[in-house]
This record gives sequence, C-alpha cells and structure tokens, in this order.
Amino acid sequence: MAKTKITIRDLAAELGVSAGRLKEILTELGVSEDEARQGLDEETAQVVKEMAQELVGDLKTLVLPRELTVRDLAEAMERSPTEIQKHIMTKHGKLLTPVQKVDPELAEKVAADFGLTVQWETPKTEPKPAAQPPTKAVVTGAQPRPPVVTIMGHVDHGKTSLLDYIRKTRVAEREFGGITQHIGAYQAEVNGRLITFLDTPGHEAFTAMRARGAQVTDIVVLVVAADDGIMPQTVEAINHAKNAKVPIIVAINKIDKPEANPDRVMQQLTQYELIPEAWGGDTICVPVSAITGAGVDTLLEMILLVADMAELKADPKAEFQGTVIEAKLDKGRGPLATILVQQGTLKRGDILVVGKTWGKIRAMFDHTGKQVDSATPSTPVEVMGLNEVPVAGDRAERVESEARARQIVQERLEAEKRPEVQRPTRRVNLAELFKQMQAGETKSLNIILKADTYGSVEAIRDALLKLEKPEGVELKIINANVGNITEADVDFAIAADAVVLGFNVKVDSNAQSKAKASRVDVRTYRIIYELLEEMEKALKGLLEPEFKEVTLGTAEVRAVFKLSRGIVVAGCYVLDGKIVRNAPARLIRNGEVVHESKISTLRHLKEDRREIAAGYECGITLEGFDDYKEGDRIECYEIQEVER
Ligand code: GDP
Repeated sequence: MAKTKITIRDLAAELGVSAGRLKEILTELGVSEDEARQGLDEETAQVVKEMAQELVGDLKTLVLPRELTVRDLAEAMERSPTEIQKHIMTKHGKLLTPVQKVDPELAEKVAADFGLTVQWETPKTEPKPAAQPPTKAVVTGAQPRPPVVTIMGHVDHGKTSLLDYIRKTRVAEREFGGITQHIGAYQAEVNGRLITFLDTPGHEAFTAMRARGAQVTDIVVLVVAADDGIMPQTVEAINHAKNAKVPIIVAINKIDKPEANPDRVMQQLTQYELIPEAWGGDTICVPVSAITGAGVDTLLEMILLVADMAELKADPKAEFQGTVIEAKLDKGRGPLATILVQQGTLKRGDILVVGKTWGKIRAMFDHTGKQVDSATPSTPVEVMGLNEVPVAGDRAERVESEARARQIVQERLEAEKRPEVQRPTRRVNLAELFKQMQAGETKSLNIILKADTYGSVEAIRDALLKLEKPEGVELKIINANVGNITEADVDFAIAADAVVLGFNVKVDSNAQSKAKASRVDVRTYRIIYELLEEMEKALKGLLEPEFKEVTLGTAEVRAVFKLSRGIVVAGCYVLDGKIVRNAPARLIRNGEVVHESKISTLRHLKEDRREIAAGYECGITLEGFDDYKEGDRIECYEIQEVER
C-alpha cells in the first residue's frame, strides 16, 4: 500500500531548519541520502522529528567567537550576508557592510530575532560547529563567483584613474616585473575576495558587446565627478546600465577638489530615478577620490555587497563557457584573446571554438602576466593558440576534438555565406511597427533620441510621451541626448531593439553602415512636427514603407540568337554594374521602355550564372519577351526600402 511520503523540504520547514541541515541530521540519524530523497513515510518522519528536535535544539544555539563580522554571523545563521545586513539596517538602524564587525550585544539581538541563542566561544576554540565542513561546500554545483564590474561615466570624470588606483593598490605583485600587462580585465583582491574589473572604461565596449549578444557585466560603477556633476555621457551610461538591467553603484569622484559638491551630484541623480540610499532610496553612492584613494575601500566593499545581493554563482565543474573581452594579433605569439570564464573551468590544452575560429590553448596567462594552467568562473585569462583573432563579444566553448572544432567553424563560415543567414534578425522597424504590434512581436517601442540642443531633446521627449498609443503598447525613450547619431547609438539600438530618431543631427558614416547592415531603423528630421507625425502614424499603422528603385546594371544587346524550340536569346555586353538573374528588368529601345519583367535566364559561355559583371558578354532572356533588337538596352534593378 502506498503511504504518504513526507518530503525533506516540508519536514525542514516544520522543524524550522534548512533542508541541507535536515539532511545532515538525517545522516546522523542513519537515514541514507537515497531514502531521504524519496521522502519519509509518516512513521519514520515522526521518529525523525522527535529525535531531530533535540539536535535542532542544539542547532538553534550558535556558538560564536566574540570577534565576528556580519558575514561570519550570517554564515553561522545560514543566511545570506545581505539578508543579515538588511536586517541590521532596518531593525537595528545600523549600516554595516558584510565585512564590518558586529558587537556581541548586537549579534545576540540579531540571533534572537531569528529565534536563535548565542553561546560565546571561550577564546581559542574550534571553528564554529554551525559552519558547514568546507569539503562539502566545494564538491559540486554552483559556487559564488567574483562579480564582474564595468566602470562607466562621462569623459574626464576619472574612470581610468579609478581603475588605475584600484589596480595599483589591490592587484598582487607581479611575478615578472617590468611590462604592464594589459589584457582587458584584472582582478582586485578585497578582504580575501576577488572583484573582476573590465579594464576598458566607457560605454562603447559595454554596448558593443551587448549588441553582439554578450553580457558579461554584473555591476556598473558609474563615475561622476563631484566638481562637474551629471553630464551627457553620464546619462547615457545610466540608460545603458538600466536597459541591460545591471545594478549601478555611483562613485562620486574627485572629492579631494575644493570645488567638489557631492550633494549636488546626489540631487541630480534623483532626476534619473537613482535615489541615493542616504535619502531613502536604494542607489549606493560612495564619495571617492581616484587620486588620494579616499573612499575607494568603501566602494570596493559596496561592490561586494551588491554582488552578494545578486548572489552571483557559477559552477566550476560545468561545461566551460566564456566570452572574449579583447583580442589582438601579437607579432611573436600570434592571435591572443582575453577570455572571461563564465561557467566551468578553462584549462591549458583545451580545444576551443571561439566565434568563427578555433585553436588548442598552448598557454594561458592571468592579468599579471603569470602563466596559469586553469581558470575558474569570473577569471579573465589571455589565451594563446587560436588560429585567428576573434572579436570582442565572441563566445568561447570547449569541444572534444580538433576535428569537431574544424567542423563547427566550417559550418559557421558556410552558414554566414547563405543569404538567409546573412540577414540579421528582424528588428523594430517603424514602417512595420503596427504589423509587429498586431502579431504580438512588439509590445514596447524603444526610442533612442538624438537632437541638436537640450531644449529640443526635452521638447521632443515630452511630445513623444504624450502621443496616443494603441492599447498595450508602451513607448519608451531609452536614451535621449544631444549630438550626432554614432555607432554607439546603433549598437545600443541593436542591444535594446530600438529605433533611432535624430532631430537636426547627422548620422556618422560608421553609424550609417552599421545601421544598414544590422537593419536598425535610423530616421532623421528637420521639423519636430514631422517627427511626431511620423511616429503617430507608425503607432497607428498608417506609415507606408517607402521603396526606391536601385539600378544594378545595364547591358547592351549586340546580337540576337534564335535557338531551337523557338527560344530567342539576346547576346549582350554588360556596360556597367552587373546583371543579376531573377532581378526585375526592363528593355529600353531608343530611350523608351518596351517591356518590363525580369531576367529569366543568364548565361556566360553556355553556363548558367547568377550574375555577370560589367565588361563581360552574356546571353539574356527576359521573362515573356523575345523581340530583342541590336542596340536595345537591358536595365536590371532591385527594390529597396528607403533608408532615411
Ligand atoms: P576618464 O576620461 O573618465 O578615464 O578620466 P581620467 O581618469 O583620464 O581623468 C581625467 C582627469 O581627471 C585626469 O587629469 C585625472 O588626473 C583627473 N582626476 C581623476 N580622478 C581624480 C580625483 O579623484 N581627483 C582629482 N583631483 N583629479 C582626478
């Protein structure tokens, strides 16, 4: 007869202990792991409960050393440091970081709040019995990993200086002195824990990576100079971080300067929904000086605190996964790539496929230039041995053999050549917005707005937000700023699936080509009314896509051949551009269009061709036409959606 099973989880809840702790108790009571996993029948559960009560009673007493930090207390209580920290803050009104000491009186109070009593260790005793044996903790599964931090902010606000200061003071001495190793990232040591800093300040790198589908940053440190306040790139950085849903810590820099005004910065932050903690919000702001080093330690502790809150974890035993942060070609050592390990462990000798290249890792170096044999999650390492230089943002994965690596790369290269794969994924397009909304593909219209003055940015932003929107559709201005439309804007649009609107600004040539290649809708206007009208139409589905004809090439008929079965072929010479099979085409005689259809067959020396370039001869037939005459012109073209 099937009996009701009581799960470990339920029993643990009843006893008021964690499931992990209950399992330990069960082991002590002689219940095997397998039995426990299957759940306990009621009788056994009852026995276990009674016996466990006693043990649990013991467990409700914490044996603690008198000197302990928030983290130690949290560990003993089997809670996260953040939870205990928050508890201390809200319940006892004290702001302590996880590494700060808790006085015994407070520790007792906190323990009592959780139904625990404290027994103080006599000096020099064994480690706390409540702590899990370390061997158990490192066996399998996800482990806490160091946070990966990107520093962003306006130019000259001190990003590089801050990165340099932290590096100087927190990176362990290099084994080989001399050359400064720059691998795009470094790890700083703070109270025995590590923080990984991406060493390329600024938001371009951050956004470019995201545009390629890679997100490696866990925390953004936003640097704002206290003597300058929030500037355009500060706002942009805020928008980037928010859109990527990455927590922001604000470093109010240059506080050593007499004209520094941190309060003003905090005031300004509130306009961007970043309410400083000091004012009841949840944005951590730390006044620092990248020159004197004041406040930097606190900043680092806050990074760890935010990391704890995010409970960043990765499994060093899992399949390796990583992302390229930086790559270059070294004259002597060949292609070098800095890879950030995100999951699993990377080892020397591993065979990697990285984007569209592969290789066997011949050597690996850490950020100090030291050779290492393996790297665990959140560690950046420079690897040597790839066949070609990959691109920042490329994924790296391990494969079992060189043959497999070659095959994957080959497949990727071939897939790239196929036209249907070449087309990047469909993006938000204003002309098609309504269709996309109806098809349920788009619920939010994300806009990046660039204009010539702050006045116009504000005016357009307000007007856009007031536009009438169909039900269920949201219009979000994810970035609004002064200046021309740049590649970074397009990257942001790719990452956030947004359209870019410009008012009285130009589109940089790099931005233009990138937008075209990745099908980002970039539109510029000279009249605000037109911009608004077009957006209104787009939202209502009234905006017609505009098309234009682009001539591909022209050929001249030089001879007419009549083949068997009555087929007539125009023997042509391509004058300019190219003639493309299946492209729409027209036949022009004495300046007048005689026939319009498409290139039906295209041959060169009896062979079928997809296209024929200027300067070559070819045989052409047009669909539904055979009355060619010497001197006729055949013009072929394609229809393109108008790029505005
Ligand atoms: P970035 O463009 O944001 O990387 O800014 P930099 O780190 O290059 O700093 C710009 C300028 O500000 C440099 O001249 C730095 O020496 C100076 N600077 C940076 N941080 C501080 C600071 O905390 N105090 C003072 N007085 N100057 C700073």
